[in-house]
Amino acid sequence: MEELKSIIKDVKNYIELEKESGLKEMTFREMFAVSIDAASAASEGIGHEDKLKELEKVRQEAKDCKECELFKTRRNTVLGEGNPNAVLMFIGEAPGMEEDIQARPFVGKAGQLLTKIIEAIGLKREDVYIANSLKCRPPQNRTPFSSETIACRNYLTRQIDIIKPKIICCLGRPATQALLMMEMSITRARGKFYNYNNIKVMPTFHPAYLLRNPQDKRLVWEDMQKIQKELKEIQ
Ligand code: SF4
Repeated sequence: MEELKSIIKDVKNYIELEKESGLKEMTFREMFAVSIDAASAASEGIGHEDKLKELEKVRQEAKDCKECELFKTRRNTVLGEGNPNAVLMFIGEAPGMEEDIQARPFVGKAGQLLTKIIEAIGLKREDVYIANSLKCRPPQNRTPFSSETIACRNYLTRQIDIIKPKIICCLGRPATQALLMMEMSITRARGKFYNYNNIKVMPTFHPAYLLRNPQDKRLVWEDMQKIQKELKEIQ
């Protein structure tokens, strides 16, 4: 019964987001399939405890990190959270004020929208892994300097090596540049898969951008549907 309730909730979220996006087609069957398949793949639990230990090691290192000037103004480092066996990983730009206070990624309004986006493809927030390319908050949420991104990249790549997701969704230009090391506007980069160490990478707009530019939500839904399709093919 609980599972059925959860599926009905997913369907409701999906319909809500489809309405917002302006898209008319609703693929209930597809969404149902991905929800079940992705959740079961995510719960395989191979090396789960070992992965948690490895991630904790990275967290402890980042906690005391002084590799760039951001250590002077941070309250907390924000490594990431979620399923260490996640099939799908999201990478944002950097912690904001709320994230810096709570030491968790994507907890403000943009985080709520990201949760809705995840639910729209039939997954739950706890099924995926969420991180940022930068682990400390830049003052006044300014765009990270490339020197900061380079200094912090080691933590991100180690997280990816431990989690081994099948698909990564980069949210916004800084996250895309940090991972793929390529100079391209997010408008040009989004909507296509790229390769990072045999992991498919889909860049799309950052949820914070969508809060300011809701007319572009439709493009993100299109990108997410590509991810949903890819997840189905992988599993
Ligand atoms: S942003 Fe990254 S490199 Fe800079 S101090 Fe924080 S953890 Fe270290």
